Amino acid sequence: MKKQSVPLFDPGAIPDNLCPIATDYSRMLPGDWRSQRPVVDRRKCVKCAVCWLYCPVQCVVERAGWFDMNLATCKGCGICVQECPHGAIAMIDEED
Ligand code: SF4
Ligand code: SF4
Repeated sequence: MKKQSVPLFDPGAIPDNLCPIATDYSRMLPGDWRSQRPVVDRRKCVKCAVCWLYCPVQCVVERAGWFDMNLATCKGCGICVQECPHGAIAMIDEED
């Protein structure tokens, strides 16, 4: 018996108002929902760039003597704190 082919994807079947938010460009800024932010201890940072490598949103920026975080885009996930091999980053509460 011959198998019937079933289309896996029919673009015409998807309503055009399914996800209206996705039609607008979003920079995914943290706004006021970030509960903690990273702070770098400049005396401990050796500029190894591990934090830059692991930050999922590329908000680690290079300074003259250390690496810093762009808090305009940082999501406060804390991955950089976990990955820094020199313990140079700490998370502090946003209220502090
Ligand atoms: S991982 Fe730590 S030591 Fe390395 S650049 Fe980042 S803050 Fe500095
Ligand atoms: S807390 Fe997360 S988003 Fe912010 S700098 Fe560290 S790794 Fe990047």
